[in-house]
Amino acid sequence: MQRYFVEPGQMSSGTVTIVGDDVNHIVKVMRARAGDEIICCNGLGRDVKAVIESLGAEEVTARIVEENLPSREMPVYVTIAQGLPKSDKIEFVIQKGTELGAFSFLPFTSQRTVVKLDDKKEKKRRERWQKIAKEAAEQSHRSRVPVVQNVCSWRGLLALAPEFDYALFAYEKEEGALARSLQDIPPGSRVLLVVGPEGGFDESEVKEAEDAGMRIVSLGRRILRTETAALYGLSCISYQFER
Ligand code: SAM
Repeated sequence: MQRYFVEPGQMSSGTVTIVGDDVNHIVKVMRARAGDEIICCNGLGRDVKAVIESLGAEEVTARIVEENLPSREMPVYVTIAQGLPKSDKIEFVIQKGTELGAFSFLPFTSQRTVVKLDDKKEKKRRERWQKIAKEAAEQSHRSRVPVVQNVCSWRGLLALAPEFDYALFAYEKEEGALARSLQDIPPGSRVLLVVGPEGGFDESEVKEAEDAGMRIVSLGRRILRTETAALYGLSCISYQFER
């Protein structure tokens, strides 16, 4: 059954109103008819089953027939701060990270970032990244689409760290298992997981992360590629909180 993500205001007590690109998808791609069933999610944890009642050029309305569909969201809100990698690796991180339950993605630049994006290029890339997140959220039956945020600077990332309940900084020279670092994190926490680019972090950045209150964590004994690291982290977090 096709899944559509709507703004909270599009979902009333009894009906859902779909607008924008999804109207074209329902009418032209799915060739839906009145009476067909769809799933709608308002991004705030309200997932409903609805029956299409009217199909117009600008909007589709559907009557809600079932509430409280099971949520597949992780019980912690994990933002992946991904050091901007080369080529299209970040698209892989966003697609797989969405399937693995990431709440949001925060690309950042640091000392060893190789990629340079001007504003225009970044805007275009971010639109594509957000589309990848939406498609992956639909495919994995998520209740919400993770937001891909604007690329931020290293300073910007350090300034954001205190906004999280737990900020984890993945550093390959750290010993110990990630599971140990997760044990004291309660469900409902906002967690930041920071992963470096291909070249990793400079020692000075590790110190600055620590000074910003981040917890330095290991992602195991092996050195992971930048595009593997966040996925390993999300898998461990899922194992810890979704057993
Ligand atoms: N310094 C690494 C090397 O020697 O190849 C390069 C960095 S690694 C390819 C990219 C990022 O993945 C690192 O900055 C770190 O955030 C994360 N990472 C990879 N393996 C890790 C591990 N075993 N423990 C913690 N973080 C790891």
